Amino acid sequence: MLKYMKAARLHTVGTNFSIDSIEIPTPGPHDVLVKVKACGIIPNMKNVMAHYAEWFPFLPLPPLPAIYGLDASGDVVAVGEKVKAISVGQRVYVNPGTSCGSCHACRCGQPINCDAYTFLGYFGFGPRSKEVFEDYPYAGFAEYMTAPASSLVKVPDSVSYEAAARMGYLGTAYSALRKAGARSGQTVIISGATGTLGLGAVLLALAMGVTKIFAIARNKALLDRVRALAPERIEVLSAGTEPLGDWVRSYTGGLGADIFIDAVGPGAPHSLSLEGINALRRGGRMVDIGGMSEPLPLEMFRLMCFQISVIGSLWFDVAEGEDMMRMAEAGTLDLSVFEHHAFPLDKISEALEAVDNRAGGFSNVVVMHEGAKR
Ligand SMILES: [Zn+2]
Repeated sequence: MLKYMKAARLHTVGTNFSIDSIEIPTPGPHDVLVKVKACGIIPNMKNVMAHYAEWFPFLPLPPLPAIYGLDASGDVVAVGEKVKAISVGQRVYVNPGTSCGSCHACRCGQPINCDAYTFLGYFGFGPRSKEVFEDYPYAGFAEYMTAPASSLVKVPDSVSYEAAARMGYLGTAYSALRKAGARSGQTVIISGATGTLGLGAVLLALAMGVTKIFAIARNKALLDRVRALAPERIEVLSAGTEPLGDWVRSYTGGLGADIFIDAVGPGAPHSLSLEGINALRRGGRMVDIGGMSEPLPLEMFRLMCFQISVIGSLWFDVAEGEDMMRMAEAGTLDLSVFEHHAFPLDKISEALEAVDNRAGGFSNVVVMHEGAKR
């Protein structure tokens, strides 16, 4: 086996990646070594690399020189001696959300609530994330990475590596819809519906049998593409052209929607989030996955009287990843809508630029490692 691999590493914040040759790691007893085939580049990646140290000093970053890359898919090429049910050759998506395994939350089966919860190749959520980065310093912008066997989502042959590398934001949307109780017969408002997160929410809502989707965004051309996915089930509204509550109630017999998924990113005005909450029926549920940065002035009295829930949701677990792969295999989750834009690792700077010029969520920018085409 080869001894060295290429890895794009950030040596100094504010500079470009350099392509370094480093040793291929050996997996620990409960870990695997994955030969990375594709790694998604999410819209927020440049912010994390350039600004998070200043914007969110409480969120630990991988120590420098750092390997980034959040959504990696590839093949298992080596397994640790204690790994029982994953074999060499398995196609996988690596869920980068990594927990400590032994704190209260982890032992209670809630890994995402672990106070050491960390996204490999991205950032962590607590001081103990430093320990996780020490154990797992590799990520998708390297040719190989280690990961706990328990983080792997099996990828069926019918799902390409590029599409599998889109699982992160798809999974975030899926977990939000599950927390909101989305199912057949329900109605869902999705704000930011043309973006990477929002389009994922549309695709998953369709897959889960949601009866009517109200898609809100600014870009009319992209909204039309969203509507074309299922014109009989999707209604679209250009944000700001009509009061959201009146519009939704006109389709729901005056009730309002069952669910509101807010996928609009930080920096957006909070007025659209408030409008979405006010467009819910009594007992409705709002789930935020976009990470609105502006504080929301919530009318708790109204929320109490109307029994409206406001829920924060971060990422998704391996079980939800396995669900999505089965849905993709069965064809209920349609991944064919994505236009993949693949760049070799040497062109990672161009890939990061391409993310800025994407056609909303329809574009899927990935780093493809050599020999990954299939
Ligand atoms: Zn833990």
